[in-house]
Amino acid sequence: MNKTDILIIGGGIIGLSVAIELRLCGAAVTVLSRNFKQAAAHAAAGMLAPQAEALSSGAMLDLCLRSRSLYPDWTHKLEIMTGIDTGYWPCGILAPAFAEDIKNGLTPPDQCQLLPSSPWLDQAAIQQHQPGLSPKVVGGWWFPEDAQVDNRALAQVLWAAATQLGVNLCEGVPVEAIHHQHGRVIGVEALLGEWQAEQYVLATGAWSAELLPVPVSPRKGQMLSVQASPFEGTAQPLQQVLFGSQIYIVPRQDGRIVIGATVEDVGFTPSNTPAGIQTLLREAIALYPCLQDFPVQEFWWGFRPATPDECPILGLSPYDNLIIATGHYRNGILLAPVTAKLLSDLIVHRKVDPLLAHFDWQRFTNTNDRLSMS
Ligand SMILES: Cc1cc2nc3c(=O)[nH]c(=O)nc-3n(C[C@H](O)[C@H](O)[C@H](O)COP(=O)(O)OP(=O)(O)OC[C@H]3O[C@@H](n4cnc5c(N)ncnc54)[C@H](O)[C@@H]3O)c2cc1C
Repeated sequence: MNKTDILIIGGGIIGLSVAIELRLCGAAVTVLSRNFKQAAAHAAAGMLAPQAEALSSGAMLDLCLRSRSLYPDWTHKLEIMTGIDTGYWPCGILAPAFAEDIKNGLTPPDQCQLLPSSPWLDQAAIQQHQPGLSPKVVGGWWFPEDAQVDNRALAQVLWAAATQLGVNLCEGVPVEAIHHQHGRVIGVEALLGEWQAEQYVLATGAWSAELLPVPVSPRKGQMLSVQASPFEGTAQPLQQVLFGSQIYIVPRQDGRIVIGATVEDVGFTPSNTPAGIQTLLREAIALYPCLQDFPVQEFWWGFRPATPDECPILGLSPYDNLIIATGHYRNGILLAPVTAKLLSDLIVHRKVDPLLAHFDWQRFTNTNDRLSMS
């Protein structure tokens, strides 16, 4: 029997971020990770985009804005610890609109009116702000406080930081079952035997329903990248993220441009498809035509952990010693620092942040997505 203070199931961006925060509080932490490479953390675009995502005002927007504000210090701390760059880039996000977008009411997002720091740029202003946009773009919103991180680099940094801090990282170890008795988890069954801990955290992303009856299901996203700087010395032409109504285009500082993403309700069906890639290329070229000549670099896909209301499930569970940290859907990269902070405060200091009440698993108990965990 293996023992630890805190056992985290799942070593994606959420599991690792929580593990690091708990370890910094002095706990002995073990992470059981089935497959690090499978994590959506590697597949994402890395946008930190609470405003461009047009989240309505309320707890989810508050959570996202709080996490975005934690990003500079959080990534700085991780970079100092590991000596590895996370690619955090406060580049701002531009949300260009076509005439059809305005007609269809897709823009402007209602929260923009509340945020005077996010101005509407008219056609002349937006074309000046970002040369090379389609001439059919009629204007757009500029969100200077939205940002991005290189999510693949961040995943590596988190893994390195966790290792360095002495988190016991067990890769290639799937958890097969969670055993409970009298409202407490008494152990988990994993590939290499059983584990026991004082406290457990479920952070298994899109696969969470395999272990607990939580209403989390996969939403596949296909992505691709092109190389914007085929010739040495050519600068990255994009200096901000473009967030269109049908496509987003995310420049990296190394010259790559990441393009995404489809949202598909196809279970865990793997692979890129011709239809998915065709859609991405068509929409990307329509928004930013000069892309059509850049060399294609890579195609990939991943699975977002979706919940019925598209908000995460965070905090207490039906079991006294199990914390849930899943369902981050489209915003798991953005929400990693705030998730780690709120849940480590909850576990170590028993401090319940009022925001957590909005993300409790019990919000689904009165719906068709009833959880039964007796
Ligand atoms: C195409 C795409 C684009 C995205 N773009 C963005 C973006 O721009 N901004 C943003 O904020 N978010 C984005 N996301 C969402 C973000 O990637 C996810 O919300 C986030 O990665 C979820 O983190 P997680 O740790 O919960 O899950 P994951 O990162 O998926 O990690 C879960 C881990 O748990 C492991 N696991 C599963 N079951 C078990 C088990 N039984 N035992 C042990 N381990 C297990 C898996 O192997 C995996 O490694 C995007 C996602 C996709 C797919």
